[in-house]
Amino acid sequence: IRVRPLTCTETRRGDQRVVHSLGDGTVHVSAARHDATFGFSAVFDAGASQEAVFEGSGMRQLVELAIAGFSCTVFAFGQTGSGKTYTLMGPLTQSESRPAAPGLLGLMQRSFACLLEQSRSHGSDMALSASYLEIYNEQVRDLLSSGPPCALPLRWSKTCGFYVENQLSVDFESLEAITDLLLRGAEPWVQGWGHAEARSGGARAQTQGLGHCCGPQGRGGGQSITPPMLIPQPSTCPSKQGTLCFVDLAGSERVKETGSSGELSVEANNINRSLLALGHCISLLAKPRGKRMHIPYRDSKLTRLLARSLGGSGITLMVACISPSSHCLSETLSTLHYASRARRVTTRP
Ligand code: ADP
Ligand code: MG
Repeated sequence: IRVRPLTCTETRRGDQRVVHSLGDGTVHVSAARHDATFGFSAVFDAGASQEAVFEGSGMRQLVELAIAGFSCTVFAFGQTGSGKTYTLMGPLTQSESRPAAPGLLGLMQRSFACLLEQSRSHGSDMALSASYLEIYNEQVRDLLSSGPPCALPLRWSKTCGFYVENQLSVDFESLEAITDLLLRGAEPWVQGWGHAEARSGGARAQTQGLGHCCGPQGRGGGQSITPPMLIPQPSTCPSKQGTLCFVDLAGSERVKETGSSGELSVEANNINRSLLALGHCISLLAKPRGKRMHIPYRDSKLTRLLARSLGGSGITLMVACISPSSHCLSETLSTLHYASRARRVTTRP
């Protein structure tokens, strides 16, 4: 769990802090008619630095597991404005010409730095490549392709499970190169945002899922990708291939949003549908193995893409982001309940 600091607006408005970390991985929510304590693997209070979150969340171990060949996933969950993007990426730049302050870099850049360090010590035995996708209106789009966004088919095969066909994958060997990819991918995304906001007079983020994968693999050819296969097949098979996938989910308040109109309502419904599907899969996966029913991954693109990380052979870190403000109480409680359910899911890596 990560609790962000109160924002200036919240402080000015005189919002109460209703969330307190008690140490020991517990978080306490106290407000009129609400008094609840939740336990998690780790809780980061408003004062926690980006570095503390990286070191204390198990992220470094996840990077090592990816290098060892496991499929690892990190997803940020929480309402809009709760700190998901801040936790994953931090601010990408300070200004147009200046990169972000190193202390503010998020889990992604810190993980990439770790991967690059490891890759250097492995010499030519290891290659890194990245791809960058978004799900928008139930369409999977490649954020690295030049040209206007086009939908890529999501397919399934017996050996690989769900995968995105023709997904671009770019090799990278420096932190600058991968940060450039992030900026390139963020561009249309940010524009899309502003556009949607202008149209709807203040509606929140429309982009619904943002995935980022990067796979360490044995040197065997320039382009390979995650999830496995496609785009010029490596001439020799890598001896092992791991993946590290970051997912910035749509605001969780979307789950119950209704009543918008026109095109926005299609978007809202699609976002709604995939977050509902995700919640549904997590609830079913959290049941004891013997009592599990069929898991409906096929209900949305998001759950198909996350199928491996959620219930299969992957290792997953969920960072649930919450605001400490009394104004966000109900959304905070629902995020904490959601995360508690997710915590009961076990996978077999
Ligand atoms: P989300 O992606 O969940 O919608 P953001 O990451 O954009 O939320 O965060 C909303 C605002 O709060 C941003 O201005 C961000 O800089 C700020 N913020 C979020 N988390 C923190 C934090 N831990 N420390 C300082 N500022 C934060
Ligand atoms: Mg965000």
